[in-house]
Amino acid sequence: MSHWPATKSESTDPEAFRAFGHQAVDWMADYMRDVRGLRVVPDVKPGAIRSRLPVSAPEQGEPFEAMFRDFREIIVPGMTHWNHPGWFAYFPANNSPPSMLAEMLTAAIGAQCMSWQTSPAATELEQVVMEWLRKMTGLPDGFTGVIQDTASSSTLVALLTARERAAKWGIVRDGAAAPDASKLAVYASTEAHSSVDKGVKIAGIGLSRLRKIPADDAFAMIPGALEEAIRKDESAGLIPCCVVGTVGTTSSSGIDPLRAIGEICRKHQAWFHVDGAMAGTAAVLPEMRRIFDGIELADSYVFNPHKWMFTNFDCSAFYVKDVEALLRTLSMSPEYLKTLYDPQVANLRDWGIPLGRRFRALKLWFVIRSFGVEGIREKVREHLALAQEFKSWVEGNPDFELLAPVPLSLVCFRCRPRGRDPKDPSLDALNEKLLAAVNATGRVHLTHTKLKGRFAIRMSIGQLQTERADVETAWNLFVEKADTM
Ligand SMILES: *Cc1c(COP(=O)(O)O)cnc(C)c1O
Repeated sequence: MSHWPATKSESTDPEAFRAFGHQAVDWMADYMRDVRGLRVVPDVKPGAIRSRLPVSAPEQGEPFEAMFRDFREIIVPGMTHWNHPGWFAYFPANNSPPSMLAEMLTAAIGAQCMSWQTSPAATELEQVVMEWLRKMTGLPDGFTGVIQDTASSSTLVALLTARERAAKWGIVRDGAAAPDASKLAVYASTEAHSSVDKGVKIAGIGLSRLRKIPADDAFAMIPGALEEAIRKDESAGLIPCCVVGTVGTTSSSGIDPLRAIGEICRKHQAWFHVDGAMAGTAAVLPEMRRIFDGIELADSYVFNPHKWMFTNFDCSAFYVKDVEALLRTLSMSPEYLKTLYDPQVANLRDWGIPLGRRFRALKLWFVIRSFGVEGIREKVREHLALAQEFKSWVEGNPDFELLAPVPLSLVCFRCRPRGRDPKDPSLDALNEKLLAAVNATGRVHLTHTKLKGRFAIRMSIGQLQTERADVETAWNLFVEKADTM
């Protein structure tokens, strides 16, 4: 076999894996320790990374050493470091040591977890961990959980199930023979996440029948406006299929009044889906449960441990009450997937859209066991307190102002030099410039949104390694750069 390149065996040899695996783990530990010293966002132009990579695949195998070197020298300098303590952009996408270890083990086993038989432990662990999570977050009995890849998929699954159920009711109501998606309407606030729009499109309901319900000054859906929209559609012969409520909207942490919305859904037989993608983690804190008041009226609910619960992407917790409706919507059992156990077990492929499923429960199990529920609470409390502190700094500075309430870990603010009219349109450009100047330092990274037509800077606090000093650094940079504007 001497005509093979020496590296050939590396791609299959467990001993080579062991040696380079140790190097890779050493690199990971160093990365976690040293990430603070890197720029949060790389200083690269479009195409810069690509131009350093070969345009065709190698014919002969290359040594791990070469891949690892290029990873360090080309790839890492072109990465945005979401796990940097100065990460305050978008939302957090945390990992943590227990989660990373579980991801490595998952990769080692490389199983497909589509049915019980294709990995009994994966299915049963997922059921156990989803029950743990349900109780940890105070979600009442009656909800059954499954892990989906994203909140976007979970919301789509909710919409599809709602469509199926409404179509069934449609038959009763209209005597129509077939489900007719063009008779359905969906409702969400103007502040709801774009995944609702996307889901409504994919579900064939059509964006023209997605009603954007106005929100109040705190960016929460106005229930009276919801009821009015539903009545109007009903009198035009449409069926209110689904209402999506949000706890913690992406732009500004708006909190829809779940109880009032849920009661309207009951009255009009609409499916009630709750999107708590980011805020859901806060429910580990008993003192935060009030923002979920009325959640027991929901038919389905999603939140993302892959955002604020220190678990690697992807891991989205989807809960549903009427499992039968979900299965009626998504279950497919071709001959080649049938097993003897089917009557006794859950085949989780029937609970979501893809057939193939990763073993995602392992990382969540590792995270919850390693931190303990109390350890998770402690981190979340810390992030919430830091957001309140940042808010107080904004309020205490006459050249800055808040643009939204701060019920969670997101602070929306802008610079408004003292004496300047709040309606002055040049404030948008000023803040855009200010944000760019702060981000250009590479020490922290934040993103923006528009609130009531105004450019708002979003300070989203939730990275595992973020400390008070990092939040202070961000604030000091804003004050310092604002002085030079
Ligand atoms: C992040 C977010 C989503 C989308 O989450 P994915 O898991 O990336 O699909 C949806 N809704 C809200 C409120 C979010 O914050």
